[in-house]
Amino acid sequence: MSVFGSEHFDDHEEVVFCRDAETGLNAIIAVHDTTLGAGLGGCRFWPYASEDEAVADVLRLSRGMTYKAALAGTGRGGGKSVIIGDPAKLRSPGLFRAMGRFVEKLGGSYIIAEDVGTSPDDMAHVRETTRHVAGLAGLSGDPSPATAHGVFVGIRAALKHCRGNDSLAGVRVAVQGLGHVGWDLCRQLHEAGAKLLVADIRDGVCERATKAFGAEAVAADRIHAVEADVFAPCALGAGLNDRTIPVLKARIVAGSANNQLAEDRHGDMLAERGVLYAPDYVINAGGVINITHEGPDYDRETAMRHVATIGDTLADLFARAEAEDVATHRMADRMAREIISKAREKARLLAA
Ligand code: NAD
Repeated sequence: MSVFGSEHFDDHEEVVFCRDAETGLNAIIAVHDTTLGAGLGGCRFWPYASEDEAVADVLRLSRGMTYKAALAGTGRGGGKSVIIGDPAKLRSPGLFRAMGRFVEKLGGSYIIAEDVGTSPDDMAHVRETTRHVAGLAGLSGDPSPATAHGVFVGIRAALKHCRGNDSLAGVRVAVQGLGHVGWDLCRQLHEAGAKLLVADIRDGVCERATKAFGAEAVAADRIHAVEADVFAPCALGAGLNDRTIPVLKARIVAGSANNQLAEDRHGDMLAERGVLYAPDYVINAGGVINITHEGPDYDRETAMRHVATIGDTLADLFARAEAEDVATHRMADRMAREIISKAREKARLLAA
């Protein structure tokens, strides 16, 4: 196993391997870049098949957090942690307290939060041993409505770019996944006059959407291929791939799911087919933005105003991608790197 030699290694500032024999904790914390602020990123608890897989994941995800934070204007850098093992077998308050001790040792360069396999309750145990934790229950609340609002303003920005106006009246939006984010997104789209087509694999949820929003229920394996103006993936990742892109009818893809492109080349494939893709980490940053406002002075309205800037960021990104003939997912990375380079240069000049 190699860290420096990994294809996902990107000059990460710190990669720390953490072991607590008593609780069975095996974890890795990666701080990718703190130019813009402390590396904020969730703690993923997952039964990785190998340490190599865990290293690759933590390196890749922490770098993604740097880019996400940069474009979201959160004043944070990028970090991530992974706990290796089966949460159902290993989860204990002691394990999360041990994790907190390792986070504390990093002195604030990493801020931990919940992610796949961890919850606000787990973070409450982490909080017993470190101050550097975000996303605690009762502080800034469930991030999903903020994420949904970011996707909503992102869809409007995409419509404006394609059609010259951002009205949702009569616009057909196919929403894949009616979970925490998808449901709230549907509510906002419905209120703005959109016509919804929805799919979910859970029983009964589409029927509820039909009653609540007049939505048309579609089979889960067909939702990406329906006649729609916008396809909003709000379920799992890798939904944009060799199988789905050729049958996609929507001209806009804008949803909350993480890692929507199965591979980077699928972003190019979308661009070649004339589909405007709102890069996932830009449009789904509402939850992260909301968390960075957390604190004793938390004000929901201020946080949501910040979330709404996702629309402006995407408008800039779409315009630049078109002007420079670059696929939008590549333009997002480029813009994030520019923000970080400028901040580094400014810091260098101030230090000189
Ligand atoms: P969730 O688990 O609450 O909802 C996901 C929904 O998708 C569920 O209702 C599930 O039944 C459905 N689903 C799963 N597979 C499906 C399929 N093949 N077809 C149709 N529906 C399917 O999750 P969420 O919190 O709403 O998040 C949705 C996506 O957005 C995830 O990819 C998540 O990583 C991403 N995301 C969420 C947030 C947030 O604030 N919750 C922030 C950033 C990114």
